[in-house]
Amino acid sequence: MTLKQALESARHILAASDIEEAALESELLLRQVLKIDRIQLYLELDNELTKKQEEGLRRLTQRRLKGEPNAYITGHREFYGHDFRVDGRVLIPRPESELLVDRVISLARGYHAPIIADIGTGCGAIAISLALELPQAKVYASDISAAALEVARANCQKHGVADRVCLLQGDMLKPLPEPVDLIVANLPYVRRQEVNDNHFEPSLALNGGRYGTEQIGRLCLEARSRLRPGGGLLLEIGQGQEKAVTSRLKRLFPRAKIEVVPDLAGTARVVTAVLPAEPYAGLNLTKRMPE
Ligand code: GLN
Repeated sequence: MTLKQALESARHILAASDIEEAALESELLLRQVLKIDRIQLYLELDNELTKKQEEGLRRLTQRRLKGEPNAYITGHREFYGHDFRVDGRVLIPRPESELLVDRVISLARGYHAPIIADIGTGCGAIAISLALELPQAKVYASDISAAALEVARANCQKHGVADRVCLLQGDMLKPLPEPVDLIVANLPYVRRQEVNDNHFEPSLALNGGRYGTEQIGRLCLEARSRLRPGGGLLLEIGQGQEKAVTSRLKRLFPRAKIEVVPDLAGTARVVTAVLPAEPYAGLNLTKRMPE
């Protein structure tokens, strides 16, 4: 069987099981078996697979048919133009979260050398993408899961930012050693009763409590004492959560400028709150204006 025939056959099997991007997914699986990049795959389409490689592809296709995400099978997922290692210890980065990164980057331009914290970093995709785009920034990345941080550490090394992304283990903002300019987070926001539908990703990374907004709500509260004057909080949210999240933010930060940003599908996906530049009375924050 040639590579081309193998691709076609895997695509056919995946499509028959209603896997949407069957062509792309079969390509990723075959590349995983052969350990080659996309260009090489297309150069070698007429080459023959060995029996062992055919068997390898069959095994990976079967795993995919049982529902295992492609990113866990291959151990990779692309995010913001970079390749990240992923496995069952972390949530698989979603394209929607690239919107969150875009927003942080445009806000970060307002600061000279921003201090940014990515909370619940998982595999580190958001923190590392930010570090790569914003060479002046200092980035903290925290997660309550020590196992997730091991994956993030490997990704920091892979992308050469281990010295610029400071990984911290702990709950929410507790491990942060200093107040920051920007807090960014894609926290768990799936409603508790819907989490079990997902058998593969860690429920810790998905479970947002009864209404899905429990963790987001906790972070908003903690952000009050950990954001510098003029700082910003940027949150990814689940479908239908914008009212709950924006009204909580308005209560906690009455003078902040709050915005809701839709994703490409038109769903409200990111909420941002930017504080006024002067410190809130009564809060003991080091004064540091954005430049
Ligand atoms: N977007 C993910 C999903 O719906 C959830 C990610 C999260 O909880 N932050 O599967």
